[in-house]
Amino acid sequence: MHTVDIVVPCYNEAEGLTVFYEETSKVTDNIDTYQFNYIFVDDGSKDETINVITALADSHENVRYISFSRNFGKEAGMYAGLLYSSADYVIIMDADLQHPPVLIPDMIEGIRQGYDCVAAKRTNRKGEARIRSMFSRFFYRLTNKMTDIHLVQGAVDYRIMSRQMVDAVLSLCETQRFSKGIFEWVGFKKKWLPYENVERKIGKTKWSFRSLFKYAIDGITAFSVAPLRMVTGFGFFISIAAFFYIAVTLIQTLIFGISVPGYVTTLSAVLFLGGIIEFSIGVLGEYIGHIYIETKNRPLFIVRNTNIELQPAQSNATKSDVNATITGRQSSF
Ligand code: UDP
Ligand code: MG
Repeated sequence: MHTVDIVVPCYNEAEGLTVFYEETSKVTDNIDTYQFNYIFVDDGSKDETINVITALADSHENVRYISFSRNFGKEAGMYAGLLYSSADYVIIMDADLQHPPVLIPDMIEGIRQGYDCVAAKRTNRKGEARIRSMFSRFFYRLTNKMTDIHLVQGAVDYRIMSRQMVDAVLSLCETQRFSKGIFEWVGFKKKWLPYENVERKIGKTKWSFRSLFKYAIDGITAFSVAPLRMVTGFGFFISIAAFFYIAVTLIQTLIFGISVPGYVTTLSAVLFLGGIIEFSIGVLGEYIGHIYIETKNRPLFIVRNTNIELQPAQSNATKSDVNATITGRQSSF
């Protein structure tokens, strides 16, 4: 019997979690030869999420959970779930039923056909603000131009992965994780499952426009140094232009003598160059910021409570490895 862990990152999802469990179980109960377990990751919720999860765990033996000491973000939640999972396959799924459980049989079918990963892809963005869709489309185009990885329009985190792929994903131990990119970067044989976007029925989205913008910048800087090259390109272009301008001005001065007016030209040059320099420092700063955070080597999450015993592989580990696992800073992969 194959095992499948369903990893569900949850932040303030108390209202809908029981419905989520019931709806998903209805689907998974009908799939023979695969045994499904749930790993709910309570990402420092401020509502009753953890109580709902522990209640589910008390009444269903296939419910496991990890509870964080504070909110560490969805990326950390997904990472923790993968790290604590020991199943043959792992499904990552949102808690708000925006990832339709009815796709699970198709995912299992894909695995049976020999794929390492079967991932869901939205075919439309129904119910989403137009400006957000536009921004998102622009982000995909920009990232694909600037990085070596190819992000697929509409791809979501909802997917099943083989143990081999999960281990590969975990082997990338960067602190600032951009999973959409990581899932592509590791490669493996992948199948896409298109589905119609589902609007959130209970609770509300945790994404603000600002966090999406930050996400986009993080995505590009995590997988590419193209912005740095762009800055070099700017510098080169401006130097050439400046050289010609100086040559022309010099010849003009030699022939016609010095003419005092030049206020607009000077001001424009100062402002233009000032802008470019600020922009370049900003780009450099983004990368330095990433280096700074990575060098701190801080854990991705801190566990406050869990009902998952350490895995056999981990229980053989040295004490520091065990500690590392508990705080999401792994050294043994
Ligand atoms: N989530 C999380 N930590 C956060 C924010 C969100 O674990 O800091 C979870 C959330 O509970 C949900 C999933 O990530 O299960 C997706 O979040 P959301 O529905 O807000 O995002 P959207 O569907 O709007 O992209
Ligand atoms: Mg959602």
